[in-house]
Amino acid sequence: MRGKRARASCSGHSWGGIFIKGIGVSSGIAIGRAFVDWKEHVEIEKEYVDDVEMELDRLNAAVEVAGQEIQDLYKDVASRLGRDEVEMFACHGMMIADPEFIGQIKGRIITESVNAEWAVRSVADKFIHVFEDMDDDYLKSKADDVKDVSARICRLLLHIEGGDMTALQEKSIVVARNFTASEIVQIDRDRVLGFVSQEGTLASHSIIMARNWGVPAVVDVSNILDVVETGDMMIVDGMDGVIILNPDEEIIELYRNKQACLAKFNEKLTDMKMKNTVTKDGIPLKIYANGDNIRDLRSAMEKGISGIGLFRTERLYMDRDRLPTESEQLGVYKKAVLDAGGKTVIFRTLDIGCDKVPGYLNVPDEENPALGYRAIRLSLSRADIFRIQIRALLRASAFGKAKIMFPMISGVEELRLAKGLIDDVKNDLKKEGIPFNPNIEIGVMIEVPSAAIISDLIAREVDFMSIGTNDLIQYTLAVDRMNRNLSHLFSPFHPGVLRLVKTVIDNGREKGVKVSICGEMAGDPLLIPVLVGMGLERFSMNADSILRARWIIAQVERSEMRDVVEQILSLSSVSEVRRFCEERFSSFRQCIPEN
Ligand code: PEP
Ligand code: MG
Repeated sequence: MRGKRARASCSGHSWGGIFIKGIGVSSGIAIGRAFVDWKEHVEIEKEYVDDVEMELDRLNAAVEVAGQEIQDLYKDVASRLGRDEVEMFACHGMMIADPEFIGQIKGRIITESVNAEWAVRSVADKFIHVFEDMDDDYLKSKADDVKDVSARICRLLLHIEGGDMTALQEKSIVVARNFTASEIVQIDRDRVLGFVSQEGTLASHSIIMARNWGVPAVVDVSNILDVVETGDMMIVDGMDGVIILNPDEEIIELYRNKQACLAKFNEKLTDMKMKNTVTKDGIPLKIYANGDNIRDLRSAMEKGISGIGLFRTERLYMDRDRLPTESEQLGVYKKAVLDAGGKTVIFRTLDIGCDKVPGYLNVPDEENPALGYRAIRLSLSRADIFRIQIRALLRASAFGKAKIMFPMISGVEELRLAKGLIDDVKNDLKKEGIPFNPNIEIGVMIEVPSAAIISDLIAREVDFMSIGTNDLIQYTLAVDRMNRNLSHLFSPFHPGVLRLVKTVIDNGREKGVKVSICGEMAGDPLLIPVLVGMGLERFSMNADSILRARWIIAQVERSEMRDVVEQILSLSSVSEVRRFCEERFSSFRQCIPEN
């Protein structure tokens, strides 16, 4: 039981360290010590003990420390993220003080004369199965709380160093099998140098969050958990998608130079901070930011953006174990519009389902969740939930330039239903004398191919359209954005994707409707010039990509890029398009300083 796994050999070569290739999902270079999600290193075995009293003492001591840790975490996370976001820890606190749970563990030690860790694990497994078998999703989600609490007690019993990811003490490179969106939310971003995961894909929501933080990240790193231990020296190259384990001095030096070079480049980019976004031939464009919380929004605002092009509201529903109330939502939305200081904030209505499912919602298990009950479909079928969000958004519109955007619209019927609900809520608010902006702009995400194809028809009924390329790629290419075995097929360079994107931009222009792109493609250095050539005027991206995008735009001429687009659209394969863009725009990707 108590040891770490033996180090396995690794498929990478080992010149100056162990090189392992993954997929770079957030650029930059991190050099530092690894912090491995400890759960990956523990195998608990049953042992019979002679001294039952001693086991009980060990258990009591571990439970006491775990209780203290949970309390500390509660305070820490509450101070960083707001009290509402830490209800999970309140629940963990209750669980660790629950006489039924702890009593059963003690009972097992006494009656079976087994080691405390085994008693914890076996009782926890029993509870986990009971919760997992429940029909109610809220109760089902309690299984995760039991896993968390029992893991914490076992870690203390086993004296495993490092602790859990929420309590990172030193700046570290965090390594795990995978990161869930709710795990990332809990990690203190100031203590993270980089993210590495054995699984994970470019477009998973947890990775999008990491990229938002501007932290280098590499995913899909085969066998990394077999070879890395907490405290190991590690380099993460988020641009090339490489990690180097236990590098020698020469390699560290090499990467320190690369890091310095990048830092210099980033410094140069700070010149772009408050500049206008203008092409070399003088065409003004707009850059907006994507975000899902006030902190993202504020840091993006410092870069001189035109507003928030995508405010993902689902975080409000993911960070707690119940639905957010109208006033809780209003608090966040109002703060966002006030902080935006008169600039636009586009709130995307609830987009849950698929890889973002809060346990307390009764979202049924589905064969194909990405094609199932998610986003606007869920909102329309749960008008009780949707109305509350729309009320909060409309009320926030009284304080600034809020706009509402619906996710995953596939045709005009859904759009009309959603708009009808907004009209209903407006009437209610009017009757109640509650202020809101009656002319609030309404838009849609174009992320389903059918919507892209009929974007001329959709454009007649909306104020703006925003292309969600993450899902548009997934649905156009029939490639699950979460499936790591298909990552190589998920590509914005596919001619089918590019044609669809151009169709939407053209239709928007023709109908006089604003079009933006808010998927990850908008910040891709190799594709920004192409999008400029297609006539895109609004880009919405992670805060981290904004300055580089502005710098790239300043170096390209729209007239010239139009010709480039023509050439690209005549190419027939992903690799041809990619090669063309790499040859033409490689300096934008690598960001090599001039001197
Ligand atoms: C998209 O699909 O491109 C998008 C921006 O939405 P999300 O990534 O949140 O699904
Ligand atoms: Mg989407």
